[in-house]
Amino acid sequence: MQQKGQSSDLVLAELKKRRAQDNRYGDGKILCSMCTKPHLIAKKAYELFFESNLGDQGLFPAAAQLEREVMAQLASLLNGKSAGGFIVSGGTEANLLSLQVANKTAGVTRPEVVLPQSAHFSFTKICGLLNLKPVYAPLDNSFTVDPSAVEKLITENTVAIIGTAGTAELGVVDPISTLSEIALQHNVYLHVDAAFGGLVIPFIEKMNIAFDFQIEGVKSITVDPHKMGMSAIPAGGILFRNHKMLDALKTETPYLTENFQYTFVGTRTGASAASTWAVFRALGKDGYQKIVADCIKNTKLLSNGVRASGFSLLCEPTLNILAFRGENTKRLAERLWGRGWFVAYIPRYDCIRIVVMPHVKQKHIFAFLSALKSEKL
Ligand code: PLP
Repeated sequence: MQQKGQSSDLVLAELKKRRAQDNRYGDGKILCSMCTKPHLIAKKAYELFFESNLGDQGLFPAAAQLEREVMAQLASLLNGKSAGGFIVSGGTEANLLSLQVANKTAGVTRPEVVLPQSAHFSFTKICGLLNLKPVYAPLDNSFTVDPSAVEKLITENTVAIIGTAGTAELGVVDPISTLSEIALQHNVYLHVDAAFGGLVIPFIEKMNIAFDFQIEGVKSITVDPHKMGMSAIPAGGILFRNHKMLDALKTETPYLTENFQYTFVGTRTGASAASTWAVFRALGKDGYQKIVADCIKNTKLLSNGVRASGFSLLCEPTLNILAFRGENTKRLAERLWGRGWFVAYIPRYDCIRIVVMPHVKQKHIFAFLSALKSEKL
């Protein structure tokens, strides 16, 4: 750190220079992110609650109330009549809290978790932290987990099984109803990672994919407002089927204005709750339906164009995520990056994966398709 402070003008001028080196969602070239440009109101709400700390709620009752209201809205959206939970730092912390509850309530000496091969890498971190043995179940040819394989992998040490509603790589949805039957039969905890899909699936018209608390065996759900919810980062969400389940997370906080905390992160900004609350209020279900409908329409446009250029799709997109491959796909991904198109290359499927987020508009898709064509020549 330098000895003398600088004027705010100088500091900001330097920051603006640095900021110019970062990419911007608005350019429409970030095709590999599950986050997007937050809704304008998210920024304003964030600024309003910038100082608040949900780790010391007695001082910030308004922010705490906003969090309760956001969680009640998410619970209702996901059909959780008695559900309770928190805004957390992201999908990773949400998944961590779910397995913390599952593990504590099972009380097994050598705990194991059965999870799809497609489960998000956050579970690798979590299993390491909680000392859980991850047991991976294979996928079927639609890239969703094979439930019969899951059932065979359950042992007396299994504390939880995981299903994903909107996998990070392909956006597919595991057969949650079947996983639920298995979970109930074996009396095992079922967690659904809907970090991405939780704020997409409920807004797709005529989509009949059951993944939430309507399904009896689902004990907890991850759902992240900072992904398709268009809230500001950090805003993850964790919901438990019954708010009494939160007792397993209760930690005494001797010197704070509240006696207990439930999240892993201690000091956490109330701005996350405020920005999520504001976007929910500003968009309503109608607003989300429109945004999701546009993303799905653009995904279709992109998939038609990709096919017409001679590539094959790994699977028909379920949500707004598309994966395709051709010859030497890895090299193609590198060349696209070289031209400023930020796509993800997924080694395990040897494919390019694109997340068609709200910042990806039709004009960007046409421009991308023409870059793709010229790279192929
Ligand atoms: N789960 C899924 C399905 C995800 O797609 C992601 C992130 O993309 C996560 C969990 C982790 O979320 P975060 O990066 O917010 O911790």
